[in-house]
Amino acid sequence: MIRSHDLMSNCMVPIGVVLRNSCRTTYKSAILTPRFSTAFRPVVQLRNMTTTTQKSEDEWRAVLSREQFRVLRQKGTEPAGTGEYDKHSEEGVYSCAGCGTPLYKSSTKFNSGCGWPAFFDAIPGTVSRHEDRSFGTVRTEIVCTACGGHLGHVFKGEGFKTPTDERHCVNSISLKFHDEK
Ligand SMILES: [Zn+2]
Repeated sequence: MIRSHDLMSNCMVPIGVVLRNSCRTTYKSAILTPRFSTAFRPVVQLRNMTTTTQKSEDEWRAVLSREQFRVLRQKGTEPAGTGEYDKHSEEGVYSCAGCGTPLYKSSTKFNSGCGWPAFFDAIPGTVSRHEDRSFGTVRTEIVCTACGGHLGHVFKGEGFKTPTDERHCVNSISLKFHDEK
């Protein structure tokens, strides 16, 4: 099977048909998610998403490095093959570099060869998806549910031999690794 990153120099660019399907699923589940569960916590609406960690952009600039801010808050992408965790294989947990929420377990990380850390699944409920129509294509962006920080994109149906056949293509700089089990 031809994978998207075989066709594109940048693995963040997907095959459109696959993504449109996954986006439809994303929106359906988002609509059905009960809102009352967050009623007693501070919330802020960010692009149709409810976050529980809210900071102004100035506050984020104060706690993040310049590159973390560019990726997490401005939806940037780190260059392929440069991230700290691209070939990282220790056992532990990858948390959001913005708010510290655990997002991915090392047991779901796999080597996709695309130049960014790849995971076939996230810790349930911690990563949200929405449609990204930037750069003239339709992709599924993934963000930290708690703070809205940009992680990367998720691609489905590429033929990887993983339990979900999904690839969460995540910027290393959006993550912070801890060697806890
Ligand atoms: Zn976060």
